[in-house]
Amino acid sequence: MVNNIFSQNKSGVLGNVLYLTNVTYVDSKREVLAEFSNKFDKKVERYKFFPFILLPKSIDGEKLKELLLSFSFKFFSLQEKENYFSLQSTSFVELKKIVSVLSKCFGKLPLVLEPERQFLIEKNWSYFDSFLYFENSLIKVDSFSKDVSFSVLPEIPFVEAMKINQEEATFFVNQAVLSNILKIPINLVPKNKQDQEEIFLENIFFKNAEFVSWEKENFVKTKNFTPFGYFDNFSSIDFSPVWVELFSKKFFNIGPETKNCSCCKPFTLEDKNLLPSSLIEVKFIESDFFFESSSPNFAQEFHFNHKDKLEREQKKKEFFLKHYPVGPFSSGQVEKVPLLDAKKLLEEGVVELGSNHLVDWFCLNKESFFSKELSSFSEKLKGFEEFSKNNQQSLFVSSFEFFFAEFFIKNFSELVAEIPFQLMNKGSKFHSVSLAKTIISIQESTLFKFKEFSEKEGYRVLHTNNRGAYVKGFSSLTLAKKFSSSLALPIPKIRSFAKNSKLT
Ligand SMILES: [Zn+2]
Repeated sequence: MVNNIFSQNKSGVLGNVLYLTNVTYVDSKREVLAEFSNKFDKKVERYKFFPFILLPKSIDGEKLKELLLSFSFKFFSLQEKENYFSLQSTSFVELKKIVSVLSKCFGKLPLVLEPERQFLIEKNWSYFDSFLYFENSLIKVDSFSKDVSFSVLPEIPFVEAMKINQEEATFFVNQAVLSNILKIPINLVPKNKQDQEEIFLENIFFKNAEFVSWEKENFVKTKNFTPFGYFDNFSSIDFSPVWVELFSKKFFNIGPETKNCSCCKPFTLEDKNLLPSSLIEVKFIESDFFFESSSPNFAQEFHFNHKDKLEREQKKKEFFLKHYPVGPFSSGQVEKVPLLDAKKLLEEGVVELGSNHLVDWFCLNKESFFSKELSSFSEKLKGFEEFSKNNQQSLFVSSFEFFFAEFFIKNFSELVAEIPFQLMNKGSKFHSVSLAKTIISIQESTLFKFKEFSEKEGYRVLHTNNRGAYVKGFSSLTLAKKFSSSLALPIPKIRSFAKNSKLT
């Protein structure tokens, strides 16, 4: 990109780099003032700016204009871009009024962000991004060396600050990193991880013209329970970074706009775009038949909603099961069961395939916006990872730049890995029942397959929950690798090895 034009010195630092340190929107002038600075210099640039929201291409632009005119809005413009419409207004207050009308018409809420964040998203800039003057205008450059201590800790050199109070000094680096990732001023970075996650998702949804759903029905979700007591010699396998990777087009292509599309409805149980949340109708052959479902959530829902509770409770006790068995079924009885269960039961020859299914699927044509974002995330991480690797000399490891790179990698990976959990979190405005069900079903079926695979390989799985699995013995790295390659999944992380400790 642009940075090849400029010569870089040995540590990859560009000369005369200016960092974006402040952004202010001035409503009366319809402009944004952006401050670029470094240790020695400070420049302010003005940019014409109209607050905007992005709307999906699926809406009818002409009808939208008519609608807004009928509500006496005058100061707006609607521009058709490549992937969406951009609705601009001459003032932020007016834009908020427009959005309030639109949300009533759509039954979904378009996100309105502060004008400063809109500006940054539109430009693909953020706080502490690096810039250089090129032919009299500032151009963003990919530099991963970020010594912004002059702005974050102006009173004292970073080396000194580290000597006095390392924890406090590195706290400021971390805040600068979060400000950069979330595109909000450093003093507005929330302390709470969930609030940070919410902002992270706001940016993704806003950029992709995706509205926030209002659908907030309740659905039962089994509690994550951990067995009591101490266990010797176990290792824990962390699946949480895996879930978000399964959002990509390579796997389940998850997204509100790619689920149950009109172009790719599956025809057979073998179709690869069927989601594990699909319920398949089967007809039972034997009488007094029970089975263990691959989905603890399905088992729990079934138990609550069907008679013969006592029988299931007894069976659970008798066979030391972790979840209620599903049943009893009589010969000829018809029931809808999760895809994975149906496949297993059909294979075992204990059921026949029915015809009335409730299928979920993902699109094979269009890539979901989550999937697209994921590929750009890994690009972003790569830069800091290389920078950090190339700068492991002892002198450098206590510098601001080094901590910035390290904290960037940590915060960014955590925010990305937490996306599926936030979509399942009822407290989040991005919670959607439909997506949450998909994510849970993918987690459950993956963990179920993991358990089956491990047992075949001679391992004992002590416990699984939506974060991971606890396996007896210390050789789970081999197991995790073997499992992921057998299903072509990303490799989960081995979190810890423990002797005589509690499962957490
Ligand atoms: Zn499709």
